[in-house]
Amino acid sequence: MDKNTLDKTDIKSLSLQELKKEMEVLGEKGFRAAQLYEWMHVKLARSFGEMTNLSKALREKCEERYHYTDLKILQVQQSRLDGTRKYLFELSDGNVVESVWMQYKHGNSVCISSQVGCRMGCRFCASTLDGLERNLLPSEMLDQIYAITAHTGERVSNVVVMGTGEPMDNYDNLLKFLRMLTDENGLHISQRNITVSTCGLVPRMKQLAEEKLQITLALSLHATTDEKRKKLMPIANKYSIDELMEACAYYFDLTGRRITFEYSLVGGVNDTDEDARELIELAKPLCCHINLIPVNPIKERDYVQSEDGRIQAFKNKLEKNKINCTIRREMGRDIDGACGQLRRRHIKEEKQC
Ligand code: SAH
Repeated sequence: MDKNTLDKTDIKSLSLQELKKEMEVLGEKGFRAAQLYEWMHVKLARSFGEMTNLSKALREKCEERYHYTDLKILQVQQSRLDGTRKYLFELSDGNVVESVWMQYKHGNSVCISSQVGCRMGCRFCASTLDGLERNLLPSEMLDQIYAITAHTGERVSNVVVMGTGEPMDNYDNLLKFLRMLTDENGLHISQRNITVSTCGLVPRMKQLAEEKLQITLALSLHATTDEKRKKLMPIANKYSIDELMEACAYYFDLTGRRITFEYSLVGGVNDTDEDARELIELAKPLCCHINLIPVNPIKERDYVQSEDGRIQAFKNKLEKNKINCTIRREMGRDIDGACGQLRRRHIKEEKQC
């Protein structure tokens, strides 16, 4: 990245309001902000050069003053089974992130990363093995969706923040991103079609509730007692399951949105009948949906998937107790590798060169 880039304002992370102020400072008419915003967030321009209804002088001024983020596609893997695509992108500073594009009957969904790496340390997750490199900017979260829209030529209707990173550990940028993504002057994706997944940063979950957005909050629960959860997720040392459940109830009270619990089934670790019983007790008082995820084993750890029969039995037990649940369909099974593995493989290969 050009050294000066770091000192420049990241124009794609500015709200329309902020952009209006910028244009005022430049002595430009107010409507220029709307034009610029449309080029960036609707027409998905990749540089100022494309913005043909702006004067050359203004484009040059922008070039000088602002940093224009753009992602370079390093790799696309496409599943032969269901068309799912995994993208590996390079950011302006050379870091890489991955995103996934999935086609469902109800529309196209993109799973984005919120950080370069992660510092949460969940034991089964590949994204956290090298720790956190840095937070993603709002523009860099938007860019993942924009680049995939341009590459596929199809509209994205659903967004899940479930890729690499802990979104609540990058709260301010996440909020800005959510507001811009759902802004009627931008792609205008419905808040109801957005899910943010967290390992459970309680104060941030409450803060998000107070924003009163209509997005879905997904909590990565994965265990039913503090003791068991601590073995899988270091964050459990900081916040108890009681505190998590209280934060979930608070989110539902303030937003009316049903909570999703993610529960990755790990063979012999959290998939017994007793686990199911305890999960039922936790879920019952809440308006929630449980997403059972057969754990995707990573080679750095020796966790294994629960057997198919066990997964089904676990699900049946929940359903018998009127707990709403689904087993997450594994999209792109043939290209997969767990969350964060594409990026990891790329970094390793680079280091070998
Ligand atoms: N940091 C956020 C979002 C990223 S992970 C969170 O913790 O929720 C998205 C989901 O995938 C989380 O539920 C996470 O626990 C789960 N996950 C990560 N690695 C996995 C693996 N190898 N197998 C199954 N689920 C995994």
